[in-house]
Parts: sequence; C-alpha cells; structure tokens
Amino acid sequence: MDMMKTPVYLDYNATARIRPQVIELVRKVMGEVGNASSVHGFGRAARKYVEDARTQVADLINVRAPQVIFNSGATEGINTVLCGFKDKRILISAIEHPAVLESAPHSEKIPVTEDGVVDLAAFEKLLKDGAPPALICVMLVNSETGVIQPVKEIAEIAKTHSPETLVMTDAVQAAGRIPLDFNDLGADFMVLSAHKMAGPQGVGALIFREGVSFEKFMCGGGQESRQRAGTHNTAGIAGMGLAAQLAGENLPAYEDITKLRDTLENEIRKATNRAVIYGANAPRVGNTSNIGLSGADAQTQLMSLDLEGFAVSSGSACSSGAWKASHVLTAMGADEAEAKSALRISLGWATTSAEIDAFIKAYKKMADRLSS
Ligand code: PLP
Repeated sequence: MDMMKTPVYLDYNATARIRPQVIELVRKVMGEVGNASSVHGFGRAARKYVEDARTQVADLINVRAPQVIFNSGATEGINTVLCGFKDKRILISAIEHPAVLESAPHSEKIPVTEDGVVDLAAFEKLLKDGAPPALICVMLVNSETGVIQPVKEIAEIAKTHSPETLVMTDAVQAAGRIPLDFNDLGADFMVLSAHKMAGPQGVGALIFREGVSFEKFMCGGGQESRQRAGTHNTAGIAGMGLAAQLAGENLPAYEDITKLRDTLENEIRKATNRAVIYGANAPRVGNTSNIGLSGADAQTQLMSLDLEGFAVSSGSACSSGAWKASHVLTAMGADEAEAKSALRISLGWATTSAEIDAFIKAYKKMADRLSS
C-alpha cells in the first residue's frame, strides 16, 4: 500500500464510519457521571439522554417511544425474540444473518429467487404445508446484496393465513437507507443496530408492537421497564439516538451514494465481462454492491485491494481455517466457486467520488492481473 495515501473504507455494511456529531455527543456523555436508574440529579441527567434517544429512534421508524427497548445490538435483539420460540414452528428466509440462523436451528427456510428476493410463492406453500408458524423472520435488507425484501407482503400473507403468527424483521441494513415505518410494515418485532447507521458499536434496539410480549433474555435489574436488565450504556444510547435522527435527516443524500454505487457497477461491467452483480435486478439499497469475478477467489481479491488501500469484504465466512461460500449467494443459486469469488463493496455517508474513481481503477488493475 502507498503509505502516503489514506486507505479507503468501503465496508459500511460491516460497520459504518461514525458521524463526527455522534462522536462529539458520545464523548460529552462519557465525561458525565450518572446511572440512568439513579434517582438523584446525576441519574436524572443520564436518564434524559436515554429517553431523548428513545424518542429519536422511535421517530426514525414511526413508533411510540415505549415500544423501543435499548440493548447491546441487533444480535441481542434477535436472540431475545427467538428465545421465546425454541420449540415452536418458525419460518425464516434462507438469507438471514447468522444471529437468526443460529438462534433458530430448528427453523424452516423460505427460499429466495435468483435475484435474492424471498420467493413469495414458496413462502405461501410453506405456510399451507403445516401448522401455522408461531414466528416468521425476514430481514428488510440483506447485508451482503443490499436487496430489499417484501416484508410488508410477507406480514400480510402470514397474518391472513393465521392472525396469531408473529413477524420479526431485521432492519439493521435498512435504517438510514430507506424510509422506515414499523406499523406500515405490519411486523411485530424489529431489530436495529447503531453501528450500521453511523452510530457507536455495541448498542441497538428491539422494537415491538404494543400488546405483543416477549421473553426476558437478560435477567437482573429492572431497567427498560423490566424488559432488558443491565445498566444503560448511556453514552452509546445517546449516540444511537443522534445517529437515528441524522440517519432520518440524511435519507435524501442516499441518492448521491446510489449514483456513486451505480457508477462503480457500470464501470466494472464495462471493464470486464467476468463480473456478475448479485441482486442487480431486484430493488436494492443504494450503497451496496456484491460483485463476483469469475476465476478469482474473493480472498485473493480482498488482499490485493487491501494492499492498494481499499477495505471491502467478502460474504464468505472463515471456519476452522477454511473459507465457506456465502449462504446468501448459494441460496440465490450461485455455485460454490461463484459464491467464493464475490466481494461486497458498501459505501456510506463519507464516501467520495474520488474514492470511487480510485477504487474502479484498482479493481480494473486487479481484474486484469487475476485473469492472466
Ligand atoms: N443483522 C444484520 C443484517 C447485520 O448486518 C448485522 C451485523 O453484521 C447484525 C444483524 C448483527 O448486528 P450487531 O452487530 O448489532 O449485533
């Protein structure tokens, strides 16, 4: 890597760069003392940060503040919901995050089309083929492809089939990228994560429909209306609140990010006919591009781009020293070699057109080199 150059960060779906205003607020709150559960003035001041943040998160998704429970992140939110369904019928999309896949090993998978969208016909068939499911989990935006899932239709179909069926949607990769309305989606649970919307890591929220109950995952103190024990991460929560507000305010700027992503894909398509863009024909969020390069494995591409100063990721997971093909791409019909050749490039609020131009150049150089 040219050490004079600042590396370019294109891995926002792994974690987004925090907005400076959020860093400033988190730093300020960390400098103050007070447990949000204490009754004295210090505690009340900390409590105000938490409650203001609850309103900011609620506003982003159009719910009432008491429907928002703060926790340590989306993984915890998902585990909280799923721990109440251990011995019940659950349908989940085949492309869910591992937090869902591993919390519900007994679940039945709803297939996706080759465009990466949940297959509604297959879903209806699964519904009809057994007892009504207790829970359905379909993410709103897939983290690897950016493909937007028809959660509203899924909730409608599910509840027409059986009004008792509950629906959880993981909206981690949707927040700040598309408008969100929890009630309009018809879901009963939603999970969010601060660090994917330019907030701090290690803080998230579980949103629930009023009247729906869920099991307590963390035992201990009576925080969060006795629904999530553990001292509040006041600074993190305050940061999440501001990040949620800024995510909502900056939604229009997503058009610029989408233009950059589209330029990137068009230039790569022009440069090589070996590139395959996963999910390109489906509705997608504007920041994500998942590009397979036939004949070149993703780890080699990753290292080559890293040396040139570009941080991207692959969907493959490393387990016991071996790279496993992405379950998302294989669910879309990619074979193992194809899935193992795919890179995920994810842009964000701080990405510039100069960075994308430089990335395109580096990608072309890499593609040429890896073909010879
Ligand atoms: N769901 C999706 C779609 C994600 O992309 C991630 C993060 O990678 C998670 C859940 C887990 O979120 P957290 O890091 O807040 O536990």
